[in-house]
Amino acid sequence: MPRHEGQRLPAWLRRPVAERVGRGEARRAVAGLNTICEEARCPNRGRCMGEDGTATFLVMGPGCSRDCGFCSVPTGPSPLDAAEPARLARAAAELELSYVVLTSPTRDDLADGGASHLVATVEAVRRELPAVPVEVLAPDFGGSEEAVRAVAGAGLAVFGHNVETVPRLYPRVRPGADYQRSLNVLERAGRAGAVTKSALMVGLGESREEVSAVFADLRAAGVAIVIVGQYLRPSLRQLPVVRFWEPEAFAAWEAEAEALGFAAAACAPYVRSSYRAAEIHRRAAAY
Ligand code: SF4
Repeated sequence: MPRHEGQRLPAWLRRPVAERVGRGEARRAVAGLNTICEEARCPNRGRCMGEDGTATFLVMGPGCSRDCGFCSVPTGPSPLDAAEPARLARAAAELELSYVVLTSPTRDDLADGGASHLVATVEAVRRELPAVPVEVLAPDFGGSEEAVRAVAGAGLAVFGHNVETVPRLYPRVRPGADYQRSLNVLERAGRAGAVTKSALMVGLGESREEVSAVFADLRAAGVAIVIVGQYLRPSLRQLPVVRFWEPEAFAAWEAEAEALGFAAAACAPYVRSSYRAAEIHRRAAAY
């Protein structure tokens, strides 16, 4: 049986190498920018950048001020680069992207958590590519309402913030984060007029019921789009997978999310928060 970072993969998670790594890496080299696709070793990076015209840029990276148990983004914030917004916008135009996703590591070291830099980046992309939707996958800004309002009000197609896992597992999986704070971020972004989205990874030790309870909390916070994917260990330094959930479990979660009234839900083993972001945004917009 094939193995992934020391763990055996079940049949439904085996995919040909060509599907896992595609033209995206060459494109990234041209752009010379950080993408979360590479930094987080996303299993879909070939497909998004190679086929779907979407890339998720890691703004203010690659260093993060936190150290989540599942994440391969390096710890240790990098100095801010004032030229990054314009450079990123030019790269997005050169790559002829049709949907741009911006994410960032958490920047607890910056007074505004990096909100003004993110807003400047959104504005630069919108100047360069006025017709292209921009989605932001934001950190929690330490719970700052002002930071959330600034980013959510920047003319985004989607404001995303991931709860990542069920609250019981936060101390192990997201030690620097707080579940209720993340729900507040989503609720405040929605109140600021943004279409909101959140994702969680399963396979870290949660139960079905705990995932359902997170769905209910997200709906109560007004979240429009929910994403559930299988956690895969990026390297031996991150938490091991506790369980590979079967495809039937993901199908059941997707049906449950739709019944709960989310505008769009995508639940499948290889789904990630930015995967098929453009298509999911279109589905939510048509809801
Ligand atoms: S805050 Fe985000 S980027 Fe930083 S370690 Fe956690 S998941 Fe990774």
